[in-house]
Amino acid sequence: MGSPISTISHQKNERRSQKLNLVKTVGAIGGYLQGGGHGPASHEFGLGADQVLEYQIVLALGEHVTANACQHKDLFIALRGGGGGTYGIVTSATVKAFPERPALGHVLDIDALNARGTAQLLNATANVMASVPALVDEGFSGTAVLLKKEWENAVNKAKDTMNHHVVNDLIRYNGSSLFIISKFQVWDSFFAWSMMTSWFIDKHSPVSKKDKLPNLLKNITLDHDTHGEQIVSQYALLLNLVARGKVLEPQPMTAVNPSWRKTYLVAQQTDMWPDNAGYEEIHRFQNEVMAKKLKALKEFAPDMGTYGNEADPYDPDWKEDWWGDKYHYLQSVKKKYDPEDVFWCWRCVGNDAWAEITGGAVYGRLCQTKLSD
Ligand SMILES: Cc1cc2nc3c(=O)[nH]c(=O)nc-3n(C[C@H](O)[C@H](O)[C@H](O)COP(=O)(O)OP(=O)(O)OC[C@H]3O[C@@H](n4cnc5c(N)ncnc54)[C@H](O)[C@@H]3O)c2cc1C
Repeated sequence: MGSPISTISHQKNERRSQKLNLVKTVGAIGGYLQGGGHGPASHEFGLGADQVLEYQIVLALGEHVTANACQHKDLFIALRGGGGGTYGIVTSATVKAFPERPALGHVLDIDALNARGTAQLLNATANVMASVPALVDEGFSGTAVLLKKEWENAVNKAKDTMNHHVVNDLIRYNGSSLFIISKFQVWDSFFAWSMMTSWFIDKHSPVSKKDKLPNLLKNITLDHDTHGEQIVSQYALLLNLVARGKVLEPQPMTAVNPSWRKTYLVAQQTDMWPDNAGYEEIHRFQNEVMAKKLKALKEFAPDMGTYGNEADPYDPDWKEDWWGDKYHYLQSVKKKYDPEDVFWCWRCVGNDAWAEITGGAVYGRLCQTKLSD
């Protein structure tokens, strides 16, 4: 008997989420699946894109076609890792399904208690990073997170202030002459004030360059610009153990970055700029802080690359870093199926057919260019 399969479509997914009120996460057949798709299960089963058997897709001229190993094979390859949003609109995907199996979970929490502890925390994280190849070789998967916790301290301080000045005084009347409820609610942000950068780490770098890890972590957790001004309000470094295992096995007819097939660890850094930052600060944040972080990662594990779905969107070498030598093939598929560049997205294959005219702002309007060839 072959692998069981399951078909997912937008409509079914929508109905399910209405019924179950699912938490917000990625779309079932969109950028996650088409761009690669990793998770704790990818060590065991491979990337999300590796599991796709067939896509139904509406092309730019309105034609509804099937892409699989027999029909529109080039489109099928492009949709298995070449990224969403650029070849057409996928209306359904047929993917492999696997039986459930038991898993062992482990949580290790290390907190810095003072300034000395902060330096020690970086060294401890460096040691964890150096152990990743050994852990991953034994079949471990999951995520380690290094967080800047100032936010948590600020939240606690704000709660204490409110309780001290207002709530504690009122609470003594509760149930006698007054009925009082006091609750705090935390939102992630007013808007998404954050940017991400990431890089694939191979098996050997964390071990052979163990002495360079504390410095790498110092660079990645940098929170000020060249003028010494603090420009990162919060950060989180994720060490994603989502590769090795099945991910290392090259799959026919995929377009994911070939570097996935030598990856042991995906280092993923998210930084938030202060919410009062203007255009200039945001540009400095992008150009000075994030660029330095990406450079440090690239120097630590050269010749690797990264996962476009979780990459620095301002990486000047994005085509090569996100798709390696597959970019030109993907561009030819884009040209074939969308010759008039109807579909466009930032840093997608074929992106340079349109340019964003920002005029000094962060975002601007789009104009068609003649750059695409
Ligand atoms: C909360 C969160 C958690 C994440 N966790 C993971 C993770 O564990 N592993 C991982 O690999 N990645 C993860 N990511 C990154 C994720 O892979 C990317 O953000 C991906 O682009 C999400 O795809 P989407 O379709 O949900 O998003 P969208 O922003 O809706 O779409 C992304 C791109 O795909 C296109 N697209 C969407 N639907 C279709 C369609 N039906 N047909 C054609 N194009 C389409 C859009 O036009 C857009 O260009 C996470 C992201 C978030 C926000």
